[in-house]
Amino acid sequence: MIDLHCHLDGAITPDIAKKLGALQNIELPAKDDDELLKKLSVPEDCESLNDFLQCFGLPLRLLQTKEGIAEAVRLVQENAKSEGIIYLEIRFAPQLHQINGLTQKEVIEAALEGLKQSDLHTNLILCLMRSDHNQDENLETVELAKKYLVKDEGVVAVDLAGAEALFKTADFKKEFELARSYGIPFTIHAGEADGAESVKTAIEFGAKRIGHGVRIYEDPELVEYIAKNEIPLEVCPNSNRQTKAVSDMTKYPLKDFISKGIKVTINTDDPAICRTNLKKEFSYIEKMYGITSDQKKQLLLNAAKAAFCSDEYKIELISKINLGD
Ligand SMILES: [Zn+2]
Repeated sequence: MIDLHCHLDGAITPDIAKKLGALQNIELPAKDDDELLKKLSVPEDCESLNDFLQCFGLPLRLLQTKEGIAEAVRLVQENAKSEGIIYLEIRFAPQLHQINGLTQKEVIEAALEGLKQSDLHTNLILCLMRSDHNQDENLETVELAKKYLVKDEGVVAVDLAGAEALFKTADFKKEFELARSYGIPFTIHAGEADGAESVKTAIEFGAKRIGHGVRIYEDPELVEYIAKNEIPLEVCPNSNRQTKAVSDMTKYPLKDFISKGIKVTINTDDPAICRTNLKKEFSYIEKMYGITSDQKKQLLLNAAKAAFCSDEYKIELISKINLGD
């Protein structure tokens, strides 16, 4: 299996949190495992996006030192590997890891150090953040992405994350013009908390993939365009259920997208916060939407083809999936 959309701070399970706490002498604000789980994840009946966003507080506190970041990257990779992932893309926003004074460059280098410690084939995506007072930080992230960009096994792309409904995709034109001028591939979270227009803007900017993109169903012409131009969608079903990106999951457009030929990929988004993993995501869509094993294989092949990795490794991934990985 392949996970193309996994946030580092959303992948800190209670077990990883305990290890990071011990490593850095940070006392966890929970008296037992139950309380820790509640602090790090949303319950099945997650009520609001706010409940969801509150879960990022503790993970981010544990990700403010070089050792903490490197070890977190390694542990998230090891977790993914143990759950059957053969290729992983981890994303994080360097600017969210500067509370203790690390520079963005140091944050990226720490993550790269962690990457070397695991043998799971993994790449890093650097997130810019949606806000109205951080353009300098975002531009710095793009500059650093250029500096560290490799074809494989390192920094391979940038992304835009954060509150889509509050800060429009269109406001980040300058950042993505720069990324594009440097030839940095990028994905953009769009069509999750905001509508189809946000996805259109992301495509105009030159996004190679779209994070979520589920709300393109609001615009049939755009659905057709995305299918025709084979722009992959990084779909994260349980995250969308919990953040209410789609209010009624029985009307989730997954099957419709697949039948229209859209290159859908299935991902976890925030596996620890959503209490999920890729196996659970696939069981969910099999149960809810009757996704067949042939369709599952197609979804995995879509992910292999959409991966931000070298062409050589893509071929290897495709053949592994054809063999049943
Ligand atoms: Zn995401």
